[in-house]
Amino acid sequence: MASSNSDWSPGWTTNAPRPGDRVLAISGSDILKPEQGWLLAADDARLGDRASVAVSVGTLDGVPVYVTELEDAGEAGLEPVGLRDALLMMEQVPAELLSTGFQVWQWWRDHRYCGRCGLETGFHPRERAKWCEPCGIPWYPRLAPCVIVVIRRDDRLLLAKNARAAPFLQSDCGLRRAGRESGRRGRP
Ligand SMILES: [Zn+2]
Repeated sequence: MASSNSDWSPGWTTNAPRPGDRVLAISGSDILKPEQGWLLAADDARLGDRASVAVSVGTLDGVPVYVTELEDAGEAGLEPVGLRDALLMMEQVPAELLSTGFQVWQWWRDHRYCGRCGLETGFHPRERAKWCEPCGIPWYPRLAPCVIVVIRRDDRLLLAKNARAAPFLQSDCGLRRAGRESGRRGRP
């Protein structure tokens, strides 16, 4: 279902998941991986009532994808896989989808209440942000800084890679939004 070759597009909607949509289930720092692929159908019984509070993260091959957290990681047929292990140790992983899902869920969970007035936040009407109506403040997903150092000699550069890491990994620098490519590349 979800492979690294699938057409993944980060995005946002305030619509609730429908039965044909897909859901990334996480628990703590683990992805709950089903038997096939990485996503559950939105009407999968193992999601229980958690599908109704799932949060939009984008589309995969045109199908809306959401993320939610299950309190019970021991659901039958769902294998807990650490995000880092999935990205570094496994092949054919939809890395951007999984990392976007994690970041979006952490932001959503951690901004349930306004950091200024303490009232419960709601949807921003136009973009991916939590919104406090009394304060008029949007709360956005965190920007994640990432850095790379290039060691060069003449026209060659030194590349290093963990022997256990998956072959598709690459390095970036700049600031990254959840689900976005790096905006800038720096020079020493
Ligand atoms: Zn507020």
